[in-house]
Amino acid sequence: MPALDVFGLDGKTAIVTGGNRGIGRAISVALARSGARVVIVGRNADENARAVESASDAGLEIEAVQADITVRDQLESAIERAHAILGRIDILVNNAGACVHAPAFEVTDEDWNRVIDLNLNALWHCTRVVGEIMRDQGGGSIVNIGSISAMIVNRPQMQPAYNASKAAVHQLTKSLAAEWAPLGIRVNAVAPGYVRTEMAPVDRPEFRQHWIDDAPQQRAATPEEIAPSVVYLASDAASFATGTVLVVDGGYTLW
Ligand code: NDP
Repeated sequence: MPALDVFGLDGKTAIVTGGNRGIGRAISVALARSGARVVIVGRNADENARAVESASDAGLEIEAVQADITVRDQLESAIERAHAILGRIDILVNNAGACVHAPAFEVTDEDWNRVIDLNLNALWHCTRVVGEIMRDQGGGSIVNIGSISAMIVNRPQMQPAYNASKAAVHQLTKSLAAEWAPLGIRVNAVAPGYVRTEMAPVDRPEFRQHWIDDAPQQRAATPEEIAPSVVYLASDAASFATGTVLVVDGGYTLW
């Protein structure tokens, strides 16, 4: 068997939260290119439609379900709908996330809750609902998008809610990996460094020194450089990997 076949996702199905732009969009395209049928979940119907259309132009099978995953009944009906479209759910990529830059004394309750509700609570609820489906079908692979912010404190901008949420995501990944291993469910995370997306304004001059110049590779990633690590963890190539946090940061956390 060719060595790369074990990375293939033919016949597999996947849900990607926040799959309509940025890292999530690159992940959904990479999963589909590897053979998976993919459903993306996002709030913005126009962006969802654009992502589906450009995937279809490229001959890829991606569908979208519109939902705000911080709203419990929207989350549950989105997963029910995705399950109905796909028939089974082999892969869940918990990618949707948000960041607020503000020093601790200026973080409002609203901002704190918005970040924790999406990055941690919505991820938890998605994982539990899909985890039950995976348990009943005999297994699956969950990939959480964490961050280097779980491991270092970013500069110069302060972002305490985001950093705390991502540290929780890394530890929840390990906790569920241990608990669900007997169910055949693997749970892993990818921790990206700075990636050029709407969330990370990597070209703004005030961020250049700490985000780019001080980093070993002296550049930000493209979303397409993060996606292959997700394909790996989702695939049978990672059959013995669970509870792993795969850091993909151009060396950022080395210094
Ligand atoms: P973007 O802001 O570009 O994209 C965020 C995605 O999440 C969009 O598709 C958005 O769609 C979706 N989303 C946001 N809120 C909700 C919601 N309530 N319900 C459903 N979907 C939602 O972010 P990135 O691509 O940069 O980030 C993706 C992930 O990668 C995040 O978890 C982020 O923390 C992580 N990350 C990013 C890094 C970076 O440098 N960019 C570095 C490290 C980690 P819509 O608005 O339509 O809902």
